[in-house]
Amino acid sequence: MASTVFPPSPAILAPIADHDATFPVRRIFCVGRNYAAHRAEMGGDDREPPFFFTKPADALVASGAAIPYPSATHNLHHEVELVIAIGVGGANIAVGDALGHVYGYAVGVDLTRRDLQAAAKSKGHPWDSAKGFDLSAPLGAIAARPGSDLQGGLRLSVNGAPRQAAHLSDMIWSAPDIIAECSRLWRLAPGDLIFTGTPDGVGPLEPGDAVHAVIDGLPALDFRIV
Ligand code: MN
Repeated sequence: MASTVFPPSPAILAPIADHDATFPVRRIFCVGRNYAAHRAEMGGDDREPPFFFTKPADALVASGAAIPYPSATHNLHHEVELVIAIGVGGANIAVGDALGHVYGYAVGVDLTRRDLQAAAKSKGHPWDSAKGFDLSAPLGAIAARPGSDLQGGLRLSVNGAPRQAAHLSDMIWSAPDIIAECSRLWRLAPGDLIFTGTPDGVGPLEPGDAVHAVIDGLPALDFRIV
């Protein structure tokens, strides 16, 4: 094999609950404005459909981490989300076939530099620096649920105080809808993750905060901001 000028980046490996093997991550897609109440709190138009953005795979951070308060923001926000782990790739997937592409599910938090996002929105600029920064994607262990849908509640608390609470059935696009839509825009591959959007109740995090995020039936996600 040809040599490289410096060591290749390490593989991004996400833990799987009750499994010695890990889930090798390829890409992270994210859905924006997939809950009507969150779309309203962000000032969105109620006729506007959800949309996609991305985070780099190396933005992932496992449960239990201490995450330094990010640079270049004074308004770091939490967004609790269901995350779909893709196990079978494909393009132009039909909604009715979409669950066959699921490896499993996890709870994730889409950390957001809300001040940079607001500035980008006002100028029509991209969201990358607001959404795709280092350590911006805390992720709980993936629960293997091949071919399955998932229903239940999702909740996030900060220092024990409830901040976000909703039900997955509140999503505008369901998990099969999201897989189908995403696969029209990108050929999905095993290892892709999709953050499916957050309900209302997003809010600021400060150094010292302890975040606890849960979705019924999935391993919890805990992290601290330091
Ligand atoms: Mn989000």
